[in-house]
Amino acid sequence: MLKVIFLGTGGSVPSPNRGMPSLMVVREGERMLFDCGEGTQRQMMFARSGFMDISSIFLTHFHADHTLGVPGLIQTMGFQGRVEPLHIYGPKFVREYCDVLDSLGYLKPGFDVVAHELKHGDVVERSGYRIEAFRNFHSVPGLGYALREDNRPGRFNKPKALGLGVPEGPLFGRLQRGEDVDVHGRIIKSSEVVGEARPGRQLVYTGDTTPSHTFLSVLEGVDLWISEATFADEASDKAAETQHSSSGDVARLAAMAGVGRLILTHISSRYSEDITPLLEDARKHFPNVAVAEDFTEVDIPLKG
Ligand SMILES: [Zn+2]
Ligand SMILES: [Zn+2]
Repeated sequence: MLKVIFLGTGGSVPSPNRGMPSLMVVREGERMLFDCGEGTQRQMMFARSGFMDISSIFLTHFHADHTLGVPGLIQTMGFQGRVEPLHIYGPKFVREYCDVLDSLGYLKPGFDVVAHELKHGDVVERSGYRIEAFRNFHSVPGLGYALREDNRPGRFNKPKALGLGVPEGPLFGRLQRGEDVDVHGRIIKSSEVVGEARPGRQLVYTGDTTPSHTFLSVLEGVDLWISEATFADEASDKAAETQHSSSGDVARLAAMAGVGRLILTHISSRYSEDITPLLEDARKHFPNVAVAEDFTEVDIPLKG
């Protein structure tokens, strides 16, 4: 399972219907957060998403709307008796940020908080997937993240294997792992009974940023792009001035990159009554687009 839960979809300031930026990604039972704005742990309670076992937090930058939830979350995890280390990844200043929280002396969580500073091109390798950090273009140092799963082995054609005289049992496993096997003096190649490798799923979160053509190589062919669209195109001047994105500009990039699906978040409170301008501007360029609401959940299905 690969699922995204939008915990907070507002930009810059909270509103009655949108919390501060945070996404939870749940993959095969592992939970990780991307950004952790003010109030994120309460949003997790409403979403019933669980939060004690969050393995890592990936921060895009250190504007308060993306980070103020971190100390509260650490404190609650401590109260609840967490012992596993919590890994916090981020751009330049993530160590200083974690050191400040620690040095004030008010948080004594009883578990290690481990800061990992990342830069453009760094890759966090995990079992079955990796997370790549890439530069974005905001008013402060920032990173976007791409989660890319490993490819899965191709489908095993059992009837064909049986037809070729391979007995059911350990030889099946060896063929599935790509080994050729000897059946009564005849070599059966793995490629005869196992299909092409199936691509892993991929999602990208670009964080607060001006839309940039440098994202095209990161975005090419991904299943889901989660982008900020703080503004609709009528406020594209404001978007440029504050180094944010307008929904039309983002959708144009989505079309150029050939992403599967685009979901917009970090929505300005000026659209709290009506998100239509955001959606209309985006749909002109890319049809498979939605504006996230708090607690929107999106499953990314396996391919092949
Ligand atoms: Zn922001
Ligand atoms: Zn920001």
